[in-house]
Amino acid sequence: MFHLYKEDYLRYLAKAAGVIRGNKEYITELDSATGDGDHWLNLTIGFEKLLEKSKEWESVTYQELFQNIAMTMMSAMGGSSGVLYGSAYLKTAGLLENRESIDQGLLGEILQGWAEAIRSRGNAELGYKTMLDAVYPAASAYAKGLEEGKDSGECLRQMARAAREGAESTRDMEAVKGRASYREDKSVGFLDPGAVTMAMQLECLADFILE
Ligand code: ADP
Ligand code: MG
Ligand code: MG
Repeated sequence: MFHLYKEDYLRYLAKAAGVIRGNKEYITELDSATGDGDHWLNLTIGFEKLLEKSKEWESVTYQELFQNIAMTMMSAMGGSSGVLYGSAYLKTAGLLENRESIDQGLLGEILQGWAEAIRSRGNAELGYKTMLDAVYPAASAYAKGLEEGKDSGECLRQMARAAREGAESTRDMEAVKGRASYREDKSVGFLDPGAVTMAMQLECLADFILE
């Protein structure tokens, strides 16, 4: 069992920001191949803003933290990913009402909420070659672990593995949504940048909790 307190979540965000920052060439290359090349920059601007503001967020509630993250990502990031991450955090903020920490069960609800929000805001389905193809399998794998009574370490490792495999699976998909779908070849043969960075963040979250 784990407890991810608000201060922990802020430290996780700083760690995730570092992972994204450190993969500049790779992520930019991915979005340059099938999109407009700005995905790394969009995410980095969003994370930098979050880190800058997190000092002001020390006295807010956990629910307000998620609301603030949502608003900041939506307004600072731009691009489709800003809106999608914003929706994900906004939808799940309510789950944190009166909660001091995120525990094993609540994380399952949050992951499912993120997947649902991205699906409905992006009008996306599984297999459309988007970030949903990383977050949805991750949420499902985690839920399955919970259902089977697995301990939190096992649930987290299953979740991270499913996110990575989900991102990898976008290579063979035809893009239905987003810029990758504008190409005649529907970007088959290329990874979806948003799925890759989603997997990076979910792996980082699992590692952070497991540490
Ligand atoms: P933009 O495409 O506006 O430049 P980004 O480059 O930051 O925005 O993000 C692109 C990523 O956003 C894609 O790789 C994909 O994963 C995700 N994405 C784009 N459109 C959608 C959508 N309608 N539903 C779900 N995810 C989407
Ligand atoms: Mg882009
Ligand atoms: Mg763009």
